[in-house]
Amino acid sequence: MVIAPISSVNAISTKAIENKKVSNPIASEKPEVQQKVAEQGALKSYFLGGQAATVSFGGFPVSTGGFITKKIDDVPCCCCGGRMVRNNQMGAKAAEFANINGEKLANKIEADKDFFRTPQRVVMMLAAEEARKNPSYDLAQAKNAIGGDLKEKTQNYCINSLKEADTIVKATYGENNPTSKLIAKQIEELNSGEINRRNFTDKFVKQQGSLDPITYEKVMDAAMNIPQDFSEVKRAYGQANGSSQGIARALLKQSMQTIEHIHPKSKGGPNATENFIAECGDCNWPRGNSSYMNWLKVHPEYPIKAQHHIEWFQQQIVDGNIGSEYDDYGIDVKQTLSKETNGQINLKVLTPEKINELREAKQAGEDVNVSEEIANQEQEKEEA
Ligand SMILES: [Zn+2]
Repeated sequence: MVIAPISSVNAISTKAIENKKVSNPIASEKPEVQQKVAEQGALKSYFLGGQAATVSFGGFPVSTGGFITKKIDDVPCCCCGGRMVRNNQMGAKAAEFANINGEKLANKIEADKDFFRTPQRVVMMLAAEEARKNPSYDLAQAKNAIGGDLKEKTQNYCINSLKEADTIVKATYGENNPTSKLIAKQIEELNSGEINRRNFTDKFVKQQGSLDPITYEKVMDAAMNIPQDFSEVKRAYGQANGSSQGIARALLKQSMQTIEHIHPKSKGGPNATENFIAECGDCNWPRGNSSYMNWLKVHPEYPIKAQHHIEWFQQQIVDGNIGSEYDDYGIDVKQTLSKETNGQINLKVLTPEKINELREAKQAGEDVNVSEEIANQEQEKEEA
C-alpha cells in the first residue's frame, strides 16, 4: 500500500475544514492520528480507482464503534428499514416480552413487530395469534403452541399479508392489474406449500415504474413478510428456546445494530464515515463480500429503505441529535452508494448548506421536516 505524502494530508484536512465550517476532528489530532489519516487517504485512492489527486476528502476516519448511530437507540436499518437494537440494550429489550400474557402480549408483539427480521417476525406473529386465543399464555407457551403446524401457519401468515396489500393495489388500479395477477400467483404457490419470496420479488421489481411509490412500498413490505424459504423459519423457531425472555432475545439477535462497510473492508474500503451505513445484523452478516448487484436481488427493498434511512439521519442532524461534523455525511454516502451500485441506489439528500439553514430555522422554533424538504428540492429540480 502506498502511503500518501504528508502534503496531501494537509490538503485533505484543509478541504475538510472548509467543507464543514466547524471544528474538524482531524486537524488538531496527534501525529499518530495524522498518520492514520494518511493511510485513509491512500485507501481512498485505491477505493476510487487511484484518483486521489482530484478527489476531496469528504468523510473522516472513525472506528465502526465510534460511528454516531452506535450511540442512538431505535435507528432504522439502511437496508431492510427494520428497527434495530443496540447490543448493550438487547437484554432490556428482550425483558419487555417477559411476564406478559394473552392479549397484552399479542398487542406488544404487534406493536414491536418491526424489531424482528422476517423469519423471526413470522415466529413472533404466530405466537401472538396463539396468545390471543389463550389469555394465560406467556411467550414461551404461545411459541410452543404453534407446534407442528409451523409450516401451514407460516403459509397463511404470508397469504394474509399479501391479501391486505392486494386490497390497496385494487383500490387504485382496479381488479385486473398486473400486480394483482402476480400476487394471485404467489398466493397460489403459498397455498400449494411453496414458500419462496424471490419467485415474487424478482418479477415485482420490474413493475416499479407502473405503480405509485406508496403502493409499491406497501406491496414490497408485504412481500418482505414472506421468508426466502421455509427452512429459515424452522431454524428461527428451533433456535428460540427457554424462558419468554430467552426466546425474545434469540429472536431479536438479528436486529442488532451493526455498521456496514459499503465498499467491503476486505477489498480496501476505509474505516471512514463516508463508507459507513447502519444496518442490522441480518442485513450485514450474510452479505459478506457479495456485490450489491447480488444483494439487491435478496433485498429489493434496499433503495427505498436507504432513502428513508438518510432522511432519518439528516432529520437527526437538523434536530440537533447528531453533531454538525456529520453535515457532509449525506452527500458523501450518496456518492459511495451510487458508485458501489452503479447508480442503482441514488439517494436524494440535502446539502450541508441547506442543513445549516434548516438547523437555524429549527433553533428559531420552526417545525422542520427533512423528508418534505427533500421532496420540494426534487420537485424544483424537475421544474428547472
Ligand atoms: Zn436490516
